[in-house]
Amino acid sequence: MSGKIIDGKFYSSQIKNEIKEETQKLKSERGITPGLAFILAGENPASKVYVKNKGKACDELGFKSVTITLPEYTTEHQILDLISQLNDDKEIHGILVQLPLPKHINEEKIIEHIDFRKDVDGFHPQNTGRLSIGNKCFIPCTPYGIIELLKRKEIETKGKNAVVIGRSNIVGKPISSLMLRKDINSTVTVCHSSTKNIKEFTLNADILIAAIGRAEFVTADMVKEGCVIIDVGINRIEDISNTKGYRLTGDVNFNECFEKASFITPVPGGVGPMTIAMLMKNTLDSASGKIYK
Ligand code: NAP
Repeated sequence: MSGKIIDGKFYSSQIKNEIKEETQKLKSERGITPGLAFILAGENPASKVYVKNKGKACDELGFKSVTITLPEYTTEHQILDLISQLNDDKEIHGILVQLPLPKHINEEKIIEHIDFRKDVDGFHPQNTGRLSIGNKCFIPCTPYGIIELLKRKEIETKGKNAVVIGRSNIVGKPISSLMLRKDINSTVTVCHSSTKNIKEFTLNADILIAAIGRAEFVTADMVKEGCVIIDVGINRIEDISNTKGYRLTGDVNFNECFEKASFITPVPGGVGPMTIAMLMKNTLDSASGKIYK
């Protein structure tokens, strides 16, 4: 594989091996087994796959995991009650409510009900607030994975112009906060759907992070020579040559941008595999008391 490619599969398995080792130590030295609970409400097929994969990762790493599956018509009150029980359960160190929830349930209320010390997704306002002021907290898994990729690939971030396209709460905003932190020290610009002349900004990027949700939005004419490109997007596009009838593609036109980039993440196999690895890392850190005592 080209040295330009930032190989998320490689780094995620490296991180998982480190977690596995630390988990064994935590068990043998302190008798603690990291425990992660998943709440899956409704029938969203993608959510079912995500939860299944996260559960598998728990098995691989020696974590305890429980999946609570609830029907579409579950009430908000039932989920809040369940979260209260998990908040009090000493064997559970992480609580993950798989989003999106059924439409009649207020996601904000649900997330805020999770004990922030068990919020391994990093979506609770306590954690997002701490992230923005640079304090210890659970970092949302996808942006956390991006930071790990940059660090492990030894990409210089200090003083670099980082341009983020997208301002969602799960990717765009937290990665912008992280790139600003003193240990990363980039100068950050955030673009979104109302940004005018987006190319003016992207052409100035030393590090371009695309989290848009639009297939191959970033084209070669939008990036400068030597740019580091991090593609967060996962989009399905029709492809009759593929047996599935579609293929996955990022928010960046990989073939066009590859030549100009100094480093680039592929889709699939770039940022994607890092997300579950960092969820496991947050759960381990919760169990060991590394973030909150
Ligand atoms: P999202 O909540 O839909 O946010 C998309 C962002 O892109 C919004 O801030 C939106 O701007 C901006 N945007 C949309 N069209 C734009 C345009 N034409 N020009 C500039 N900005 C534009 O999406 P998300 O949850 O952040 O996810 C983004 C992508 O990453 C998706 O493909 C998703 O599947 C993928 N993803 C991957 C992982 C992973 O594990 N690899 C994890 C999470 C997400 P406004 O705010 O103005 O609407």
